[in-house]
Amino acid sequence: TKRVYSFKEGNAEMKGLLGGKGANLAEMTRLGLPVPNGFTISTEACMDYLNNGRQFTDELKEEIEAYLKQLEEESGKAFNSKENMMLLSVRSGSKFSMPGMMDTVLNLGLNDENVKHLAEITEDETFAYDCYRRLLQMFGDVVYGIDTSHFENFLEFYKRKHRVQLDSDLTAEQLKEIVHEYKRIYLEIKKQEFPQDPKEQLFAAVIAVFSSWNNERAKVYRKLHNIADDLGTAVNIQLMVFGNSGNQSGTGVAFTRNPSTGENKLFGEYLINAQGEDVVAGIRTPSPISELKESMPEIYQEFLEMGELLEKHYGDMQDIEFTIENQKLYLLQTRNGKRTAHAAFKIAVDLVEEGLKTKEGAILSLDPQSVNQLLHPVFVEEALKTADKISSVGLPASPGSATGKICFDAGTAKEWSDRGEKVILVRQETSPEDIGGMVVSEAIVTSRGGMTSHAAVVARGMGTCCVAGCSELEIDEFLKIVKYPNGELHEGDVISVDGTNGDLYVGEVELTLSEKNEDFETIMAWSKEFSRLAIRMNAETKSDIKTGIAFDASGIGLVRTEHMFFAPERLIEMRRFIISQKSEERTKALETILAYQIDDFKEIFSTIEGKSTVIRLLDPPLHEFVPSKQQDVERVATEMGISYEFLNGRINELHEINPMLGHRGCRLAVTYPELYIMQAEAIIRSAIALKNENGLDVAPEIMIPLVGMDGELRLLKEKIEAHIEQIIATEKATVSYTVGTMIELPRACLIADDLAKEADFFSFGTNDLTQMTFGFSRDDAAKYINQYVAGGILPVDPFQTLDVSGVGELIRIAVEKTRQTKPNMKIGVCGELGGDPLSIEFFDQLGLDYVSCSPYRVPVAYLAAAQSAI
Ligand code: PEP
Ligand code: MG
Repeated sequence: TKRVYSFKEGNAEMKGLLGGKGANLAEMTRLGLPVPNGFTISTEACMDYLNNGRQFTDELKEEIEAYLKQLEEESGKAFNSKENMMLLSVRSGSKFSMPGMMDTVLNLGLNDENVKHLAEITEDETFAYDCYRRLLQMFGDVVYGIDTSHFENFLEFYKRKHRVQLDSDLTAEQLKEIVHEYKRIYLEIKKQEFPQDPKEQLFAAVIAVFSSWNNERAKVYRKLHNIADDLGTAVNIQLMVFGNSGNQSGTGVAFTRNPSTGENKLFGEYLINAQGEDVVAGIRTPSPISELKESMPEIYQEFLEMGELLEKHYGDMQDIEFTIENQKLYLLQTRNGKRTAHAAFKIAVDLVEEGLKTKEGAILSLDPQSVNQLLHPVFVEEALKTADKISSVGLPASPGSATGKICFDAGTAKEWSDRGEKVILVRQETSPEDIGGMVVSEAIVTSRGGMTSHAAVVARGMGTCCVAGCSELEIDEFLKIVKYPNGELHEGDVISVDGTNGDLYVGEVELTLSEKNEDFETIMAWSKEFSRLAIRMNAETKSDIKTGIAFDASGIGLVRTEHMFFAPERLIEMRRFIISQKSEERTKALETILAYQIDDFKEIFSTIEGKSTVIRLLDPPLHEFVPSKQQDVERVATEMGISYEFLNGRINELHEINPMLGHRGCRLAVTYPELYIMQAEAIIRSAIALKNENGLDVAPEIMIPLVGMDGELRLLKEKIEAHIEQIIATEKATVSYTVGTMIELPRACLIADDLAKEADFFSFGTNDLTQMTFGFSRDDAAKYINQYVAGGILPVDPFQTLDVSGVGELIRIAVEKTRQTKPNMKIGVCGELGGDPLSIEFFDQLGLDYVSCSPYRVPVAYLAAAQSAI
């Protein structure tokens, strides 16, 4: 099999095989853009290597050598040549972009001898030795695993000693000394020399890139972004162009649109006389790309045009790496740029308006989960006026606002967050090693680096608020102190971070939810056009229902009535009902609750303005309504005018070993039918009242939980219906209503055809169904599920994303059986999975009628449903 492809042989479609970088380099080559020539070793070659005992086969070696030869011929350059020396860059690139995760080696091919030739050819000794010291550092890091801090610390020390400010101010003689020391570091740390043979360097670098697929930070990143572990990385080998060859050269990164706001304006930064990693590493502060317009107007114009061309070609905002070598522009990479959720929505809408994307394409380009970021909190305006602002202001690298305790290292951040603290990671700069701490932080603050620094890029990707490059902060990560012009802060002190403006405040500032924006509205409107599923909300309070209505939920998929029983005045009545053994007392308690419930339902129905509403009858075991602590039992006994012993005795009778598998759901009503009858009466009476008072038509959907046998459903439905019919007859009213059931037990799925004979509708309760299918207690499983996921036993937490092969299969069977009895019966989902994008796709594909989720997830669900339908 072919394992190596020249840039002329590939194209953008080949991301799986050539990685994103390789495929796009090939595509840009095809488009005739100025890409330095090179070739790509495929991801398959990487996986072969990793799977076959890390053997670098002769076949692969020969194939690489053939392409190397071709590159030499086409460029007229050669390794070690005295006239036309070939130097290469070696860079990884997997199918999905993993910024900062994998590794790069530049200037490969240099050695002690030919560095002198390079100095002669270029008549620039400084340049030659600058390249060489960079090679030594990158090669040492990537290939030999020598921590970069060994090189960097020395460099810092050396510069301080010789009073040199910038790397680019070092003289040739100084660079030679640095090279000398770097080689000594190899010997000291690795007991190995730096290999002098360029080919040996190349093969070692290729192997290192292959192996880097399995380094820890790559694994963490993949887990975080749900990227499969068996994709592998490609290796791109490319002729070097030199951004560090003087003041007519430079290197930079630019986005064709602003990745923070989405504004259609070139956005990025560059450094003169610099190479590759200098810009992203955040060591020197780069200049904004707009300055290039002044300093090199022709190059700027050329870059602008290429950016536009690439945007048109890919139909999306591009993130482009470029290098200028002696006033000539080269493109080194392009990819669809990472962006904040705000920018993503704006760009998607703009691209449709500019005719570069279809509505469908725009919808598919968005991550449904990112909707959450649009609904991010912001600081309360009033609170900001009195807030204690730290005079230093940084770059607004990723929007949102957050408050938390300062941590100076990723480990502490992780530890504190694990014990439930909100933390803010404050560092000079971040590196991929910090990812574990960045994930758990509410916000990230750095004192160095620009908008494309590691911290900025990663935070934007995660939707975490970030302020970067706060140059007035003096951060001492070792002593755990951050000094700012008017004071200092220590580990554990609370700060507030505004990633939208780049402001920092001492202490906590009150937060509120952000306003919705127009682009979001547009995308929502389009999503509704395409979505086949209806989206309902799970809600029972007035304010939640209003939130759901604002997001245009088509109704309520689940009212959990038990939530209404916990107000003190109701709880006591409920307790009377449960505890009392006198029938008149029990009846009286129920009558009082009935009156409350009529008001409850009137409020719900009128708030939702008569849209479809599913009311679920009481679900939890009765013991949840009685006190458990001794002093509470004593108090309640006094309140109820009964003896402590009697109350305690009743409580003990109600005690269950496994309440989740116990006397709950419809089982309660089998023993206490009057409970459901009371609730059904409240539902119907509230509907009648609203009709009479406001002329509002309400068609309640009454839902019975935890049914596992058709007999249960038949019995309860008959009783409920008989009672309702009686009310309707005496009140001479007309109310249409339906009675359905939840499907939340495996047995219910398997007898769905029989249940369908009794039910008017079904709604899958995926929380219980997952619990009952796995036999995982939904209240306790979190303790060990993480380990199942980390160990690869489960791909994801099945309470967050549907377990397709088990729970999903039960749902599929249930739907199929239901359709045999009633082809058109309404079927929905009301468990948490109803708001999960991947699960929604499955439900859509099964042809369900709706999903129901918490109000804030309604927009997520619309977008996911639209994507599934497209
Ligand atoms: C369910 O089990 O999925 C459900 C919606 O009901 P609850 O979460 O109230 O048990
Ligand atoms: Mg349930």
